[in-house]
Amino acid sequence: MVPAVNPPTTSHHVAVIGAGAAGLVAARELRREGHSVVVFEHGNQIGGVWAYTPNVELDPLSIDPTRPVIHSSLYSSLQTIIPRECMGFTDFPFSTRLENGSRDPRRHPGHSEVLAYLRDFAREFKIEEMIPFETEVVRVEQAGENPKKWRVKSRNFGDISDEIYDAVVVCNGHYTEPRHALIPGIDTWPGKQIHSHNYRVPEQVKDQIETVREDGSVVFKNGKTVYADTIMHCTGYKYYFPFLDTKGEVTVEDNRVGPLYKHVFPPALSPGLSFIGLPWQVIPFPMFELQSKWVAAVLTGRVSLPSLEEMMEDTKMFYSMLEASCIPKRYTHLMAELDSQFVYDNWLADQCDYPRIEKWREQMFYKVFKRIQSQSSTYKDDWDDDHLIAEAYEYFVKFPSNYPSSLIEREYTS
Ligand code: FAD
Repeated sequence: MVPAVNPPTTSHHVAVIGAGAAGLVAARELRREGHSVVVFEHGNQIGGVWAYTPNVELDPLSIDPTRPVIHSSLYSSLQTIIPRECMGFTDFPFSTRLENGSRDPRRHPGHSEVLAYLRDFAREFKIEEMIPFETEVVRVEQAGENPKKWRVKSRNFGDISDEIYDAVVVCNGHYTEPRHALIPGIDTWPGKQIHSHNYRVPEQVKDQIETVREDGSVVFKNGKTVYADTIMHCTGYKYYFPFLDTKGEVTVEDNRVGPLYKHVFPPALSPGLSFIGLPWQVIPFPMFELQSKWVAAVLTGRVSLPSLEEMMEDTKMFYSMLEASCIPKRYTHLMAELDSQFVYDNWLADQCDYPRIEKWREQMFYKVFKRIQSQSSTYKDDWDDDHLIAEAYEYFVKFPSNYPSSLIEREYTS
């Protein structure tokens, strides 16, 4: 059912935490709805996870809670898993740009092309003027004197700021804080261990391997013999909000952030607190965009949320359904069923009276998913959906600000 859409009412002063893809699009949507926005960014540039760094943390397993944290988990040779045409925001195509050969034209480009795209987006929508960089949010809580307001404490090097906002939108990403599997005996295992968060290049695990034996053991240059030289822990990441104090209204239990209505609003604290970007195994950017549109419209009052009781009931029913299907809590935000993300996206779009996800985008995602399963080593170079690429570029022509001018000329002159 499409909810009642009310006329615009209120604009708010909103804090967004993080200037990755989620924070950038949240800032744009909030400002479009008339809110005033500050985007707090811990790092010195936009892009979040896409701001690749060769640096890794000193603790290769990232266990020490006091360690200096490196945000990005990308490795040097990473190419996008999702084809660029369906990966971008819905109205700012992630199309191929040539620009003096400085851009990566591949369909599954490397990470620097994604960062360049996000920079184009930030420039086009003048997002950087809303961002204090190198400013870490260290505490978020309801303002004691007025629980409808939010106190945000942030740190810029030695300077601490303490400000009051009407709403806080959390966009801090969830691929930084490693999860660790409990493996008996791991503490005394003699080899090297590293979490994938700290993997960048193959050289990190090169030149240690002396001889291998028929019994499966490996003799190292340092004389040790083990049955493997390195354990790479690819055990995923944790949702982690060290700055957030909700007095127990929002918890993270076995990687379920809850209770959250539709993965975004904690019913008891809505609409003042919201989360963008929690679902995974999805096409993230368009979903962030739709979640952001919803949050922005709910904050103005243009779109209404159900009552607290209805939101709690909906959330409980969702959790009961997961339990009945034997789905562990840690998969609460996983949208693994192929069409579940699009059902969700379209629900969000309906809330905001925005067009639903384009059919070509859905089909392209299904296609790449199938290619990954059937041709895992070649799926980035060998595809059979040129007709969907053509459809995507027909759609992109509506958005000339990020559509290659050479193609526009070709469209208009042919
Ligand atoms: P992030 O990009 O992590 O940004 C969060 C930002 O918040 C960061 O800039 C951080 O510095 C800031 N921040 C955090 N805490 C604070 C604080 N307390 N105060 C101030 N600032 C703070 N997605 C795709 O679409 N296609 C792909 O091919 C793809 N491949 C991926 C491969 C890997 C290895 C990984 C890890 C992810 C991949 N993703 C991919 C998913 C990717 O995470 C999303 O595309 C997206 O970039 C996430 O954006 P985000 O804004 O939610 O989080």
